[in-house]
Amino acid sequence: MKVFLSSDMEGTAGVVDWEQCVGDGPEAAAGRRLLLAEVNAAIEGAVAGGATEIVVNDSHATMRNLPASEIAGGASYISGSHKPLYMMQGLDGSFSAVLFVSYHGSVGAPAGLSHTYNPRAVVEARINGQVTGEAGINALVAAHYGVPVVLVTGDSCACGETAALIPGVHSALVKEHVSRLAAHSLHPSRACALIRETAQRAVAGAAQAEPSPFAAPVSLELSVRTTDIAEAATWVRGVERAGPRELRISGDDLLAVYRSFCAAILLTRTVAEAM
Ligand SMILES: [Zn+2]
Repeated sequence: MKVFLSSDMEGTAGVVDWEQCVGDGPEAAAGRRLLLAEVNAAIEGAVAGGATEIVVNDSHATMRNLPASEIAGGASYISGSHKPLYMMQGLDGSFSAVLFVSYHGSVGAPAGLSHTYNPRAVVEARINGQVTGEAGINALVAAHYGVPVVLVTGDSCACGETAALIPGVHSALVKEHVSRLAAHSLHPSRACALIRETAQRAVAGAAQAEPSPFAAPVSLELSVRTTDIAEAATWVRGVERAGPRELRISGDDLLAVYRSFCAAILLTRTVAEAM
């Protein structure tokens, strides 16, 4: 039984500031240790729940945040930049379950370093009219391959938003927000214990989980920060202008929707830097 684990970082217990999850400083190094412990807890839970093979796709910032030799369960590790399927690179129909570890709230959520892919570009994202964060957008790929998303770990916003979009997903809530840059976290050992037991239940029940929460055709709508970002995004196939700062990517092919989204995020990066 193959399990796919996409790891972000902002949803880790104890991590509340960019200093702890970007760059080479001592706080970021400490943050990566906390993340590693949570990823390993999810892997151990998945193995206890029946997983025989785990693939970890590092999805945060440089996408090389974990020491490969210290990843539990003999998991293989996808890391580094320029992955065509980005946060979902490596997933295909041979997997039985998807786990989202250390996820955070959508841009606009009141908590947890909230953003949706690029905070300089995306002001809000909606799937079929419902506001979503990265978990919902990434779930398009899981749905395309018919693999259920069974676990999300992170702050209260990440867990709440994911559960609203993916009924039945198991949540391990490791911190309550105080503000966007403050949170009340479980002790890391408690957070890991919670993640371990929740992952075990989630993976053990994967065969009964609903593979796709989406009714086709799917419409992914994006509100972006400037008209220039909106204009540049329309250079990508599949991206339509729906208003001065509104974009729409729609269709029955969920993978194509996600790929157009990733291309738009990548293409607008330079434009989004300009004020
Ligand atoms: Zn993220």
